[in-house]
Order: sequence, then structure tokens, then C-alpha cells
Amino acid sequence: MHARLERELETIHAMIALYCGDRHGVGESLCADCQALLDYARVRLDRCQFGAQKPTCVNCPVHCYQPQYREKVRVVMRYAGPRMLGRHPVLSLRHWLAGFRRHDGR
Ligand code: SF4
Ligand SMILES: [Zn+2]
Repeated sequence: MHARLERELETIHAMIALYCGDRHGVGESLCADCQALLDYARVRLDRCQFGAQKPTCVNCPVHCYQPQYREKVRVVMRYAGPRMLGRHPVLSLRHWLAGFRRHDGR
């Protein structure tokens, strides 16, 4: 996987972990639902038709996620995004979230 995609996956993982830990609290690992969401995101990234040129998924004109996963990832980001800004200087998270909000229309 390209480094940029790896970083995006790491970010998604960190967000899901934060969300799952607070909401589902199953300890170190993710609950089955959140693990499935992360696995799904990994497959999408792996198969992304844009390759190294890919936009962040939230800014993507294609949106290859199935609706139920898009909705889940949206919920996770809305929860974890603002909480991570302080502690995760990972990629340009701020920019990433700004794009997400634009797309989301909120
Ligand atoms: S949503 Fe867009 S950028 Fe993200 S994996 Fe799918 S096609 Fe690629
Ligand atoms: Zn969970």
C-alpha cells in the first residue's frame, strides 16, 4: 500500500479505536462491528482506483463506500475528529476534517 494510503488507514484506525473505546468499551481491541468497519475501509483503500493520486475518501467524487459503511464512518469521524485534533498531529487532520464537513454539508 502506498505511504499516503497507509497514513489514511492509520488515521481511520485511530478514529475508530477512540470511538469504539468510548462507546463500546471492549478493552484493547475493537468490537466486532468496528473491526468490520476498519476491515472494510482497508479493502476500499487497497482497491482505490485513484492509487497514489487519491483524494482523501471524504473528498472523493466517487465514494466507493456502501451507504451503511459511509454512514458508520461519518458517525465515527464526527465523534473522533474534534477529540483527536489535540492529541493526534497525524497528517493534515484539520484539513481532512474540513473537507469532510464540506462534503457532509454540516
Ligand atoms: S472513497 Fe474514493 S478515495 Fe476513498 S477508497 Fe473509495 S474511491 Fe478511493
Ligand atoms: Zn466498536
